Amino acid sequence: VVQVEGLYKAFGTNAVLKGVCVTIGRGEVVVVMGPSGSGKTTFVRSLNFLEVPDKGDITICGTHVSVQNGAAGLKRAQHKQVRDIRRKTAMVFQSFNLFAHMTALKNIIEGPVQIKGVRREDAIVQARALLSQVGLAEKENEYPSRLSGGQKQRVAIARALAMNPDVILFDEPTSALDPELRDEVLTVMRKLAEGGMTMIIVTHEVRFAREVADRVIFMEGGVIVEDASSENFFNQPSNDRIRQFLRRVE
Ligand code: ATP
Repeated sequence: VVQVEGLYKAFGTNAVLKGVCVTIGRGEVVVVMGPSGSGKTTFVRSLNFLEVPDKGDITICGTHVSVQNGAAGLKRAQHKQVRDIRRKTAMVFQSFNLFAHMTALKNIIEGPVQIKGVRREDAIVQARALLSQVGLAEKENEYPSRLSGGQKQRVAIARALAMNPDVILFDEPTSALDPELRDEVLTVMRKLAEGGMTMIIVTHEVRFAREVADRVIFMEGGVIVEDASSENFFNQPSNDRIRQFLRRVE
C-alpha cells in the first residue's frame, strides 16, 4: 500500500531525511521508533505531503508522486496526485488539532462534507457510528475544551476514520497525555489494528509496539537503520544503539 524510495528532506542546512526507503503492505501496523531528532515526525508528515520532501518517490495505494526539487518543483499535473494521496492518508497528531469552535460531531463531519462532498445527513449517521466506536457516543455535542485529552484524541481518531483512509498516520498520539489517559487511546488503536487498518505510528509506547505492531522501524540520523518484526526488534535487537535506546524507553 505504501512505498517510499529515496526520501530526502532538509530544513535549511539541517538534513533531516537522508534517503528513507520502505514498503508497507495492506493491514500492516508499523511502529516508527528512534531517538529525538532522528526524523520520525518529518518522515510521517512527508507521507501525506504535510511536509513536501526535497526528493523522493512516494506511492500510496497506486497513486505515485515523484518529487525532484521540493514543493517548487512539483508540476501542476502532480498537484492532483498529491491531493489524492492526502485523501488516502489521514493523520492523527500529538496535539489532537481539533477545531476548537466545533462540537465533536461537527469536527468529524467537516472533512467528509467539505472535502468529499458527502451529504450532511449521511455524514452525521457515520459520525455517530464512529463516536460510538471510540466510546464517545454521549459526547457528540461537546466542544473540545470540555473533553479530556484522551477523549479529544479519540475524537481525532474518529475524525481520521471518517475520511475512510487507506492508511492512518499517527504522530506520537499519546505523548501529550497523562499515563491514565493513554490506555483509552491505545485501546482504540489496538481495535483498529485488529480490524485490519493499515497504520504507521510514531510512538515510544514499547508495550503497545510489542503487542500490536507487526513491524518496528528504527530511525537514526535520517535513515532507517532497522526494519524488523516487532518480536525480533525487541527480543533480538540487532545493534547496541537499539539496545541502549530500549533501555532508556522501557
Ligand atoms: P522527536 O522524537 O523529538 O519528535 P523526531 O525524530 O520526530 O523527533 P523530527 O521532528 O522529524 O524528529 O525533527 C528532525 C529535525 O528536523 C530536528 O532537528 C528538528 O529541529 C527539525 N525540524 C523539524 N521540523 C522542522 C521545521 N518545520 N522547520 C525547521 N526544522 C524542523
